Amino acid sequence: TLGYVGIDAVLDQLKIKAMKMGFEFNIMVVGQSGLGKSTMVNTLFKSKIWKSTALDLERPIPQTLKLQSVTHIIEEKGVKLKLTVTDTPGFGDQINNDKCWDPILGYINQQYEQYLQEEILITRQRHIPDTRVHCCVYFVPPTGHCLRPLDIEFLQRLSQTVNVVPVIARADSLTIEERESFRRRIQHNLRTLCIEVYPQKCFDEDINDRILNSKIRDRIPFAVVGADREHLVNGRCVLGRKTKWGIIEVENLAHCEFPLLRDLLIRSHLQDLKDITHNVHYENYRVCRLNESHQ
Ligand code: GDP
Ligand code: MG
Repeated sequence: TLGYVGIDAVLDQLKIKAMKMGFEFNIMVVGQSGLGKSTMVNTLFKSKIWKSTALDLERPIPQTLKLQSVTHIIEEKGVKLKLTVTDTPGFGDQINNDKCWDPILGYINQQYEQYLQEEILITRQRHIPDTRVHCCVYFVPPTGHCLRPLDIEFLQRLSQTVNVVPVIARADSLTIEERESFRRRIQHNLRTLCIEVYPQKCFDEDINDRILNSKIRDRIPFAVVGADREHLVNGRCVLGRKTKWGIIEVENLAHCEFPLLRDLLIRSHLQDLKDITHNVHYENYRVCRLNESHQ
């Protein structure tokens, strides 16, 4: 038709380019020891969305003593995702938890620094490897009360540096009603303390974002259960935890909200998490560092 230039062809080009490049996405799990962080790393990789890549993770999980990253390349319908999950040692075991966030914030900032150093080179790589943490999943212990001072300190620091999604850990120790009231109390804590977790209200770009993200904000922190064993339930193989009341299926929304967490991270908000990391958190870091070196 008259006047139609076909600019929309650029969409196909973007798609082809994105498929060629693939996506790099980095998640970090943080929280006190024993809350199921290492188990959750395995749950993420074993969960049903990557049926094709049956991973062998049968050995028992040792206690995590240092920061360690696991990377898997996942390919679906021609889209390549290089997913890295960084596991952290639990903190809060000591009597004195002063500065227990230092190694974690140190790691996050180190990745920003590496990216910055690549970016300011005169001859830059065409593609700078991205090890920046795009999302930090913070495990809140299932006390059923409210956030503890240590969680508050951690969340305040983290949320200024990185996207943070808090979760209620080991939610199977709470009833559905307890999870709900705990969630409300945590949301109230976060509001009164002005801790902005992901998806941050101030970055909603339009009414559609606001509608979608409001629903997510209402469900955060997700009440999650982690598991790395499969069980047979009515002839189906499911990832779950065996208890005396039966199997808690991690992929079943009637049992826990792990699917909401996974979908947010890996399906619906992956690119947004990357964009906010680059445009907001990394940008803050970059500005601070460059100001520093110009003084
Ligand atoms: P981490 O210290 O945070 O890495 O915790 P681990 O993943 O090592 O788990 C500590 C223990 O808690 C292990 O025995 C796990 O099997 C168990 N565990 C992990 N996730 C859950 C959960 O969601 N519910 C329950 N009941 N136990 C869990
Ligand atoms: Mg661990």
